[in-house]
Amino acid sequence: MLVASALLAAPALAAPCLIVTLTGAQGGPSVYGGQAGAGTLVRYGDDSDGCNAVRLQFDAGRGTSMRLSQIPVLAHQLHAIFFTHMHSDHVDGLADLLQIRWHFNSGGPRLDIVCSADAPAKAAIAYIMSCRKLVEHIGDAYIQSGEIAQRSLEDKERLAGGPAAAAIVQTFEPNDEPQVVWSRGEVKVSAIRSAHIAGHASYRVDTPAGSVVIGGDAGNDTPAPPRASSTSAQVEKLATLPASADIIVHSAIHPVMGPDKGSGFPAPIFHRQSTATDLGAMAQRAGAKHLVLTHLIPSLGTSQHGMAKLPGGPLSAADYKNAAAAGGFTGNIVVGQDLVSVRLPAK
Ligand SMILES: [Zn+2]
Repeated sequence: MLVASALLAAPALAAPCLIVTLTGAQGGPSVYGGQAGAGTLVRYGDDSDGCNAVRLQFDAGRGTSMRLSQIPVLAHQLHAIFFTHMHSDHVDGLADLLQIRWHFNSGGPRLDIVCSADAPAKAAIAYIMSCRKLVEHIGDAYIQSGEIAQRSLEDKERLAGGPAAAAIVQTFEPNDEPQVVWSRGEVKVSAIRSAHIAGHASYRVDTPAGSVVIGGDAGNDTPAPPRASSTSAQVEKLATLPASADIIVHSAIHPVMGPDKGSGFPAPIFHRQSTATDLGAMAQRAGAKHLVLTHLIPSLGTSQHGMAKLPGGPLSAADYKNAAAAGGFTGNIVVGQDLVSVRLPAK
């Protein structure tokens, strides 16, 4: 009896859990319907802390701080931000996040920013994609306007150097094999090179509750047809090894934007994105359970995406689901909207 009651009194082991939340589902720099720019929040923990012990942000497009505040996760509560690439629609929210962190939490830990090392582009005119410089100069406009000096006098605790001083940049050289780029306790983040623009990388988070791959805007290394798929072989590798990822979060373009469909959407931009149909096929091959389509081109419900007009009128979530299912995916398809989540294990 004594043994039995002692067992009953022992606290239940808190089960590990993972929550993946879209902080913004907008595809590209266009603005539509109040959607935030591209981003995904990954939280890991257990039942006792609401899966909220580790908080990782992947990309931080326009309005990221506002979506995070609805969860709520505040800027100083993020442990790290990972960038897939240096397009503005994926980084617009960083100045805001770092300014807030500098303003209110200069005394707290600096934010890890994990991204590719400087990546020279192969182009007619040489240029370099540089996450390091983005962060180094993130507060320059506020320094030039005088705000940083003014607020520093208001509060002597604020870090000299402004918002950039609230971050630590950790760069890596992306290549065709997964490499661990960040870890904390049981959470491990790996990265792989992928094609879109120079320096593009895709990520995988492994935890005891499950795993998620964040593809970003990855596309196939072969920039246009003929090719077997518009998706990235490296992202597929990341989603497959060492075991099938549970969740794939990926930017998706609907086949209706294709150059043969009359939307006027530029063919090279269409071909460098992964189509919803090819993503469905890849997720099936990789053995994923959930496919989260985000960064939707076109946005749901719009009759015009950027300068391109939708030939057959606005698309619904069902149109994206059907496109992914046409690729053969038999798992759970989630069509991206701001703050939609997938939890592992499901509640
Ligand atoms: Zn993008």
